[in-house]
Amino acid sequence: MSYDENNIFAKILRGEIPCKKIHEDEYVLSFYDINPQKKIHALVIPKGKYIDLDDFTTKASPSEIVGFLKGISFVAKKLGISVDTGTGYRTLSNIGDHGGQEVPHLHFHLFGGEKIGKMVL
Ligand code: AMP
Repeated sequence: MSYDENNIFAKILRGEIPCKKIHEDEYVLSFYDINPQKKIHALVIPKGKYIDLDDFTTKASPSEIVGFLKGISFVAKKLGISVDTGTGYRTLSNIGDHGGQEVPHLHFHLFGGEKIGKMVL
């Protein structure tokens, strides 16, 4: 499967559609999910064109991988949900059909601001 240049997150990265931005740096863009499932529901996406986590770990450079992981922690701190700035959060990434992935650009969800509950619903 090749990367779909017209997926919604690619359009957000190109500035073609708006987002409620939380953070942006060389490696990541983070914004609020349009359909929040918890009190705080943020998304963190890499700037590069990667379909999912497996695509990313196969093709991304070490600095992109480090930059992306650090971006997730930075956003959690900024939102006040990390363990040092808050009381914790959950992060997850859906991969492919069985994983329930809807948008084919790698993204991590960050849920917090309230008790999250069971690991898998
Ligand atoms: P997934 O099912 O893991 O692919 O999640 C895709 C997520 O993207 C869902 O939680 C959607 O609510 C969210 N989403 C879709 N379109 C937008 C958008 N324009 N801005 C922010 N979040 C979006």
